[in-house]
Amino acid sequence: MLSNLLPKSAEHYQMLIDGAFVDAADGRALERVSPAHGVLISRYARAGAAETERAIAAARQAFDKGSWPQLTGAERSKYLLKVAALIERDADHLALLDTLESGKPIAQARGELAGAVDIWLYAAALARDLSGDSYNTLGPDKLGVVVRDPIGVVSLITPWNFPFLIVSQKLPFALAAGCTCVVKPSEMTSASTLYLGKLLQEAGLPKGVINILAGTGPDVGALMTSDPRVDMVSFTGSTRVGSATMAAAAPSLKKVSMELGGKNPQIIFPDADLDAAADAVMFGAYFNAGECCNAGSRLLIHRRIAEEFVQELVRRVPHVTVGDPLDEATKVGALISADHLAKIESHVAGAVSDGSRLRVGGQRLFADRGHFLAPAIVDQVTGKSAISREELFGPVLSVLTFDETEEAITLANDCEYGLSASIWSQDFSTCIKMGRHLRAGTVWVNTFMDGASELPFGGYRKSGIGRELGRHSVADYTEEKTLHFHAGPRTARWLPDHA
Ligand code: NDP
Repeated sequence: MLSNLLPKSAEHYQMLIDGAFVDAADGRALERVSPAHGVLISRYARAGAAETERAIAAARQAFDKGSWPQLTGAERSKYLLKVAALIERDADHLALLDTLESGKPIAQARGELAGAVDIWLYAAALARDLSGDSYNTLGPDKLGVVVRDPIGVVSLITPWNFPFLIVSQKLPFALAAGCTCVVKPSEMTSASTLYLGKLLQEAGLPKGVINILAGTGPDVGALMTSDPRVDMVSFTGSTRVGSATMAAAAPSLKKVSMELGGKNPQIIFPDADLDAAADAVMFGAYFNAGECCNAGSRLLIHRRIAEEFVQELVRRVPHVTVGDPLDEATKVGALISADHLAKIESHVAGAVSDGSRLRVGGQRLFADRGHFLAPAIVDQVTGKSAISREELFGPVLSVLTFDETEEAITLANDCEYGLSASIWSQDFSTCIKMGRHLRAGTVWVNTFMDGASELPFGGYRKSGIGRELGRHSVADYTEEKTLHFHAGPRTARWLPDHA
């Protein structure tokens, strides 16, 4: 019944350079096999140095000589509204592409597409509201005006876990500011971003404003980062590559924006609504198979209720439907690759050999096809265990216990990441104290992983630099320029009058 959604043959995608869809000069291509079905589904023209060079040159030309940076906010906003409408029109197809390539459940992918449309609409609204400052308090003959110029050419590098959503957290804001872009999606999930290129063309964006390359990080991403013609790099991915990307951007002193890893605590106090908390803990740990920078992969639970709460989670785990991501009922689909599955298994095995206890799950499923892992809970974990400190990016929940609020804060903050956290308590004082002391970019109180285009998203420490979304997200793609005016005779002369 589901097989009719699988493509009969692999779809071929070209890259978008200077307004034209092209193959690689050397004819090379990348292939993607569905991680859930083992079927070849996409083939993308594979960019190398030559194509990257052309894409950057096109974006530079479009910025320096083209119309895009000169358009009014209202004009750019109209383009973004058109793109939003086209994404909405083709949302089911885009969701299918992300499901086939990433292994995520189709119902979830549709939700991500709806979220992406909302982000494009939000960026369209912000495009009309970009403004600077003025100071008329500097003296009667002076006026200070602070304007915001688009920063220039921006490289956008995105990962495989939320292919369409993450490019939508960057591209519309860069466009709203008047920037031109070179975009590189993950080599494993490029189809929906390349398809977006077609929608951008259909919306009539001028040539060279957006260039989309399929290729690998070392071949393409590295050049997009180091090339001096690029003014800014916005990257989402691993902390390791993010850090290397910053180093590569440093010689040309580019602005960088980084959304990186997380090891996010979900902190439960005994007075919480424990039924709601249990549901949110499962969602936080297993949504997108845990392949999520925001995954709530560390449960910090008050010792008094720990065993009872974990037993309740264990009871609920079999209700998390793992299976074919094309099935509407599936909650957890396939992991991205065989290597990734093996990495998560070895983390779980390592935790058990270090003295932690596997309470449920952790075994491979459907050995005949795809990369599936049963959602796991590991308890008797300490703050020193690797499994409580490293980002696994899989459906594994580590359980740690605490006795006092201060201890919960210390445990939660004793981590090199700081992306998000959640607190569950009915007590206002506990919530406000935790909310104030947790070192994380987002703290949810009695909820988990809620989001809105209006709310900034990003991390402390090794979770990143800068914020996406929110009302400053267009301004992030600008440079401030001070225009300092003086009228009338020169005052406060430097040299004497007769000089
Ligand atoms: P990476 O950080 O390797 O990939 C993210 C993006 O960076 C991809 O487009 C990748 O290209 C590109 N890239 C790789 N090398 C370079 C480079 N030298 N210069 C510029 N760009 C580069 O993440 P992975 O996909 O390998 O995932 C590894 C781990 O990272 C995961 O297990 C998870 O822990 C974490 N991760 C975190 C994410 C988040 O949202 N914060 C998202 C994804 C992963 P390509 O892969 O095509 O070669």
